[in-house]
Amino acid sequence: MIRLDKYLTMTTGLSRSDAKKVLSKGKVTVNGAVVKRGDIKISEEDKVVCDGTACIYKQNLYYMLNKPQGVVSATEDSLHKTVVEIFPEEIRKRLFPVGRLDIDTEGLLILTDDGGLAHCLTSPNHDVNKVYYAEVSGIVKPEHIDVFRNGIEFKDFTTKPAVLEIISVDVERNISKIKITVSEGKFHQVKRMVAFIGCDVTYLKREKIGGLALDAMLEPGEYRELTDEEADLLGR
Ligand code: URA
Repeated sequence: MIRLDKYLTMTTGLSRSDAKKVLSKGKVTVNGAVVKRGDIKISEEDKVVCDGTACIYKQNLYYMLNKPQGVVSATEDSLHKTVVEIFPEEIRKRLFPVGRLDIDTEGLLILTDDGGLAHCLTSPNHDVNKVYYAEVSGIVKPEHIDVFRNGIEFKDFTTKPAVLEIISVDVERNISKIKITVSEGKFHQVKRMVAFIGCDVTYLKREKIGGLALDAMLEPGEYRELTDEEADLLGR
């Protein structure tokens, strides 16, 4: 048995205060009858409908977030806001980020409570491609494509073959715009690869993980649930 207001926040993503509002407006029914109190207890067998949509408790949650700059990819942090704090409290308790983006990196981050999927997406053995858009200071040259393709030998590891695409180069302003596809997720990997060719990342955004692209409608800081098809694309 669980309180109706809690059940609403867990199944709809509404905050506690928004759940209270829909309840008081008479928009919630339990087994067909309007219920305005959030403190009644319901069970698994009860059919809850909010604003015409059935509220179904999902076994696992899958969200895409357009991670904004300034928040850390963690569930707890003593200094900075975390990505899970962007989500309403009830959902937040269940979610963790899959892998990490640096604090100053934007873009596609998956948050879930599915440990199996998280493992598949981050395990070095699974080679899941990640596509990044980067703006860099310095000139990226066609010969750098081979450098990325051949792998870069750092002191601590050698990168697997990566794809570098040069979008534009502005010689006067000494800046380049590039796309990089990597199949691993080592700490600061893209920044280190770019530094290796003598450039410096000034803006970094992840656009894709495997077959899943960041929804262009999501502004930094916005999120949405994955569709079933999208979750399947990731290998759920
Ligand atoms: N590579 C980086 O350097 N930073 C990120 O946030 C992601 C990939």
